[in-house]
Amino acid sequence: VHRKANGPDREAKALREGIARSASELRALAASADQEAAPLLEFQQAMLEDDALSGSAFEAIEGGASAEAAWTDALDEQIAQYRAAEDAYFAARAADLQDIRDRVLRVLTGSPANETPPGAILGGDDITPSQFLAADWSRGGGIVLRQGSAASHVAMLARARGVPMLVGVRDLPMMAANTVLVDADEGAIVLGPDDATVLQFRTRRAAGAAVELEAAGLAYRPAHSADGTPVAVHINIAGPDDLASLDPAICDGVGLMRTEFLYAHGLPDEETQFAAYRKVACWAGDKPVVIRTVDAGGDKPVPGFTSDETNPFLGQRGIRLALAKPGIFRAQIRALLRAAAEGNVHVMLPMVTLASELAGAADLFADEARQLAAASIPHRMPRLGIMVEVPAVAVAPQLFDHAAFFSIGSNDLTQYVMAASRDNSAVAALHDAAHPAVISLIESVVRFANGRQIPVSLCGDAGADPNVIPHLLRAGLRSLSVAPAQLARVKQAIAAVRLEKVP
Ligand code: PEP
Ligand code: MG
Repeated sequence: VHRKANGPDREAKALREGIARSASELRALAASADQEAAPLLEFQQAMLEDDALSGSAFEAIEGGASAEAAWTDALDEQIAQYRAAEDAYFAARAADLQDIRDRVLRVLTGSPANETPPGAILGGDDITPSQFLAADWSRGGGIVLRQGSAASHVAMLARARGVPMLVGVRDLPMMAANTVLVDADEGAIVLGPDDATVLQFRTRRAAGAAVELEAAGLAYRPAHSADGTPVAVHINIAGPDDLASLDPAICDGVGLMRTEFLYAHGLPDEETQFAAYRKVACWAGDKPVVIRTVDAGGDKPVPGFTSDETNPFLGQRGIRLALAKPGIFRAQIRALLRAAAEGNVHVMLPMVTLASELAGAADLFADEARQLAAASIPHRMPRLGIMVEVPAVAVAPQLFDHAAFFSIGSNDLTQYVMAASRDNSAVAALHDAAHPAVISLIESVVRFANGRQIPVSLCGDAGADPNVIPHLLRAGLRSLSVAPAQLARVKQAIAAVRLEKVP
């Protein structure tokens, strides 16, 4: 129950101060946080300081609401919108907004934060990054969520810290037992286990820790299968911030830079994009950097760019949208042409379905290059490759024999082949990249590409899944691109695959 308002001026002042204090709390936390947590806290601080977030709260205060009521309603509305987003990345940001909402409310009402005892298993609908960071995970513990998402910030933190976490546990049991085991390898929860089960669990955990240590030792070595076949391993990033603590020596380059994160707060201008691309190219030195043109649309809404669609995954996404709005696309193209003059930059087009889309993009690149040349601005024409993530391309790759390279997007390819949404835990079992239908398609794409000497790689999450990696290598793939945190484990999984033919 909210208190009565004290008049718009005092309420607005209280909210302004509440936001400012919360932002400085986040700044202080970020300053003392480790390299995984700091960017996340800075991200929350930037969101909090964006006037767009609080605009409707100040309007409600003008209309007579108290600071707490106005702030809660404004944030709840946005949280609901984010949660409803079909794209996992956007839906996952709902927990950040929830976190921001609660932090400001705590400041406004002067209430203390909840404490999590060490070793606790947290259960509920979802948890916020602040709740995660406030807990002491050094003595074990885990997370079990009814909702949640594998693409959330909490999931990224949990992965990085080795905290077992389950999401999409629809019928979460009451966890009143004294001992609860969370097995993130098997996706299982054990309530009140007997001594033998606890012992078995401890043994498995110790074995898992040994595997991690061994994997870390592999990080700096080039990947080879058990029979010595080299496999290139690149990294997937969202922007230069992801590289802050990474040594380029651990990978063969950047296999996918997803540029839509630059568009998270609206349309970025050419200079902002150029600066981000150049930083990544400089980090990589001579190693290749594949920058993907913006894959906005439907599932990844960008205000001022995308529109509402009834079936967004099958709508105007990726290259379809970029070509439909060339004014916006051209700013990115210019930034890419300029960045290509500064490093080993290659450009990849997402959601390509028709050869005319590749040709249309190539024409725009050529046109912008001419204009940059006329203005004596340094630039270079990058090699233009395509994502193979629409079944039409995987079935008829011969229509793309002029592409500079292929990169298989197994996340989307799997969802389109299996007709199972990539971000819906209810159909997660169907979204299976190891299904023979998906693997045989991948195999035929690789065979075609190898026959035409078109470099081919895979940059979807399947490339980081130790259960799928053997299928991918046997399908002929010799290049993968994975999240940096998975890199050592991926090299280890590759090292366990025997590729030579059994006589
Ligand atoms: C994919 O679809 O596999 C992919 C790498 O692209 P994204 O996950 O960004 O859609
Ligand atoms: Mg994709």
